[in-house]
Amino acid sequence: MSMFCFQCQEAAGNVGCTVKGVCGKPESTSNLQDVLVYSARGLGLALDMLHRAVEQESDGVTDSDGLYGGVRLDEMTTDSGRTMFRALFATVTNANFDDTRIATLIGEVIRQKDAVVRQLQAVCKQDHELPRPVTWHADENDLAALYAMIPEATVKADTNEDTRALRELALYGVKGIAAYGDHAMVLGYEDTTLYRETARILGATLTMDDANELTQLVMDTGNAAVQVMALLDTANTETYGNPEITEVNIGVRGNPAILISGHDLKDMYELLEQTKGTGVDVYTHGEMLPANYYPAFKKYGHFVGNYGNSWWVQDTEFASFNGPILMTTNCITPPKDSYTDRIFTTGLAGFPGVKHIADRGDGSGAQKDFSEIIEMAKTCAAPTEIETGSIVGGFAHAQVTALADKVVDAVKSGAIKKFVVMGGCDGRQKGRSYFTDMAEALPQDTVILTAGCAKYRYNKLDLGDIGGIPRMLDAGQCNDSYSLAVIALKLQEIFELEDINDLPIDFDIAWYEQKAITVLLALLALGFKGVRIGPTLPAFISPAVADVLVKNFDLKVITTVEEDVKAIADA
Ligand code: SF4
Repeated sequence: MSMFCFQCQEAAGNVGCTVKGVCGKPESTSNLQDVLVYSARGLGLALDMLHRAVEQESDGVTDSDGLYGGVRLDEMTTDSGRTMFRALFATVTNANFDDTRIATLIGEVIRQKDAVVRQLQAVCKQDHELPRPVTWHADENDLAALYAMIPEATVKADTNEDTRALRELALYGVKGIAAYGDHAMVLGYEDTTLYRETARILGATLTMDDANELTQLVMDTGNAAVQVMALLDTANTETYGNPEITEVNIGVRGNPAILISGHDLKDMYELLEQTKGTGVDVYTHGEMLPANYYPAFKKYGHFVGNYGNSWWVQDTEFASFNGPILMTTNCITPPKDSYTDRIFTTGLAGFPGVKHIADRGDGSGAQKDFSEIIEMAKTCAAPTEIETGSIVGGFAHAQVTALADKVVDAVKSGAIKKFVVMGGCDGRQKGRSYFTDMAEALPQDTVILTAGCAKYRYNKLDLGDIGGIPRMLDAGQCNDSYSLAVIALKLQEIFELEDINDLPIDFDIAWYEQKAITVLLALLALGFKGVRIGPTLPAFISPAVADVLVKNFDLKVITTVEEDVKAIADA
């Protein structure tokens, strides 16, 4: 069966990829990812049924061992939550192109689903008529059996474009939740209520058909997105400290080095620890740039700075880096011959033929083993210089809150008239030069708040400052978009505003992959209205659903720089 995928902003023709992904994802991988998502939804449904059954059968009463009807519900919820999150994270755009690993994840989900079903039957004390997404089975090694699931698993299984749009909106929101939740889990931060809610949402994408109910489900996804982003913020800052204003070197020095990309801060920490005293330097690329802002990482003398730009220019930048490259999460593109023998994946990232660094194992406290990469680095030339100088970042919520008096004075005096949130993700499309032009065209009394790799469109421009406050404040990774919401909520409190939309803040969000959808839903759930997104409306949004978003949230699509600058000034 041919593929169909329209989950990212680069979907072919802004309709969908049907032969091969613009991202390079082949038909086989796309179809297996659909089956993986379908199996995760089935696991969510099974877990949701188990919770409901427990509530019904035992009125929530536990015995002395903390069991509900013989079921240790928290453990089952945590195991299922971890499995759902890993499965969904692996299907985020540019995360994993490796069919073998996708099939293995399907097997993990099916085994966990079976365990939940056994508990469900134990609680119900009778055979339950279970729905097909819960009961289906296949051997992960039997690709024909997995492919046989595609007609049920494909997004096209729902032929109503409006309910499908709402279903996919919730599902893509959950993919981002899964990514953020997995990052938090790696650092030891988990929340069973979040796993429970995610299971409910995933299950509902299989059982709900009413457009109004699905619209509410999308809002529920936004609330869960806020919850997970807060959890990850706590995990990152409690583990590695609050990001600080930092001048990041973008040049190189003469030592051999390793380039690390993606979003996983624990990988960053372990790589820095293991390269200590080896003569091998470490640089960040793409979304790992904000690692430079964390106190826990800044202390390493061999952590040199950031090399290059956004994920989509990795072809040339990975070639000129000369040393090994470690991809910790999404944002790998099909490797070029010039560096294919020195790129590695780890965690949920994967690409066929690319060496994969194994996980940590079973909680023994052991680190991942990066020795192969470090030994390779020692044999490589130092990075070729592609630019010099520095950029400044580290304006996450704690840092901006520390500057609150200065910011508030600047707003009160009229020195700052507007904040424009221009976070999100970067991509290849030519139309994205809009964000560079926008940064240059915004009036001098405007401050840009950003997070995510969208910043590479303007973070090397000289935008100046307003009374010592830089005109572009970078909070961090896309994961740190939560910081931007916290900053807005803090300003609302300081200015004693009833409605957050009375703040002088506009949103001009660049989207590419599903985590940007998660951030968008979080913003809507927090009550922000008038968010502008671009460069295009998602292909999976039907005209009727777009109307609902416009009517209820005043959602906008970017137009021209001139029009949008004027609209922001007039708002
Ligand atoms: Fe196409 Fe994007 Fe799906 Fe890749 S992830 S197949 S580019 S829609």
